[in-house]
Amino acid sequence: MIECGTVYRNNSSCFTFKICPSPTSINKTTKRCNGKSENERKNGDEERISKYSFVSPLCMRGGDGYNSYSSNSLLQRRVLSKAKPVLVKNTKDLMINLNFPTYIKVADLGCSSGQNTFLAMSEIINTINVFCQQRNQNPPEIDCCLNDLPSNDFNTTFKFIQFFNGMNITSKGSYFVYGVPGSFYSRLFPRRSLHFVHSSYGLHWLSKVPEGLEKNKMSVYITNSSPLSTYKAYLNQFQRDFATFLKLRSEEMVSNGRMVLTFIGRNTIDNPLHRDCCHFWTLLSKSLRDLVAEGLVSASKVDSFYLPFYDPNEKEIKEMVQKEGSFEIRDLETHGYDLGHCNQDESKRSKSGQNEANYIRAVSEPLLVAHFGDAIISILFNKFACHVSQHVSCRNKTTVSIVVSLTKKKTFLMS
Ligand code: SAH
Repeated sequence: MIECGTVYRNNSSCFTFKICPSPTSINKTTKRCNGKSENERKNGDEERISKYSFVSPLCMRGGDGYNSYSSNSLLQRRVLSKAKPVLVKNTKDLMINLNFPTYIKVADLGCSSGQNTFLAMSEIINTINVFCQQRNQNPPEIDCCLNDLPSNDFNTTFKFIQFFNGMNITSKGSYFVYGVPGSFYSRLFPRRSLHFVHSSYGLHWLSKVPEGLEKNKMSVYITNSSPLSTYKAYLNQFQRDFATFLKLRSEEMVSNGRMVLTFIGRNTIDNPLHRDCCHFWTLLSKSLRDLVAEGLVSASKVDSFYLPFYDPNEKEIKEMVQKEGSFEIRDLETHGYDLGHCNQDESKRSKSGQNEANYIRAVSEPLLVAHFGDAIISILFNKFACHVSQHVSCRNKTTVSIVVSLTKKKTFLMS
């Protein structure tokens, strides 16, 4: 069990572990807003909250064992290090724009279980403290809020607090760590309370599997042979989810607050159905079809399984930010999706296959178990590892990581 309100102290800093349940209803106000009465808005908000909950078995594999997310998140760690310059730049800009405030609240959304979360948080804290020293300013007190779905293994995340402690935090000031269980497609924080939001590799997970995928046969996601309707259904769900995310964060963030978001994306513009032959979900579909051929899983079971995932391109992200209207884009960068497949010889190929199988297993196992049961999981990922090793030399060409930084536009309060 996570202890609530336990305070751990070391020489320079103070940590508070606390679970803050997300609100079940959105704050009410008596004013009319966008021409809607309070009741109309309340109903709309409640509908939005229940509709935009989350896919319940979606979470990474917990613990810190061999197959856990914590032990298989090197890829995500590399992604974080590539996004670091954008993170640092936006943290400094925030401090300048807010005129070196005495208090800062930072949230990491989709923190998962493991130490990656603390990498981003320590980068932000260090940047703030060093920058304050350079500018001869007092460092602010910092609240660090770690959010993920309630099913996330927060206990394992909190165990890694010791790494945070050992990360050379050059802190003169204090920082406090909180857990915030809930979906980022719902309200998580009070209005205008957040200064900085970070989220890495969380937002390509949708709030639900889109409807209308029946024609997408024997594939868990979009592939080259999917009908166009499959792409449209996924894009539509992504647009709804991302717009909801932006709207809710805009309610929670202060004017001039910053957000740095990293997605798995794609760099194709012409053919929206194109996915590389070595795309991880294409290989997962192939592995499931192998199990059908061997009589271990029924075809209808595979036909009814789809992933709540979407890999947008830069254009789709840009369009949604502009359409929703609460944020301005500062940086938009694309980086190669680096699975570390640099070795081509036979023995290392099979190691690469195994490594990628471990990554993908750690992020998809709870979803797969909920649909297929746990008996097939090991055999499925053995197949997957073989498929990956046959594709090592082709590498991902169109799968990329997209980093976007955003500034919250000024809010004009209604009198
Ligand atoms: N940021 C971490 C973890 C990435 S894995 C890292 O870089 O290593 C993606 C995480 O997003 C998972 O832990 C998953 O549970 C979480 N996630 C997915 N959908 C979510 C939602 N709607 N609300 C909150 N967290 C979500």
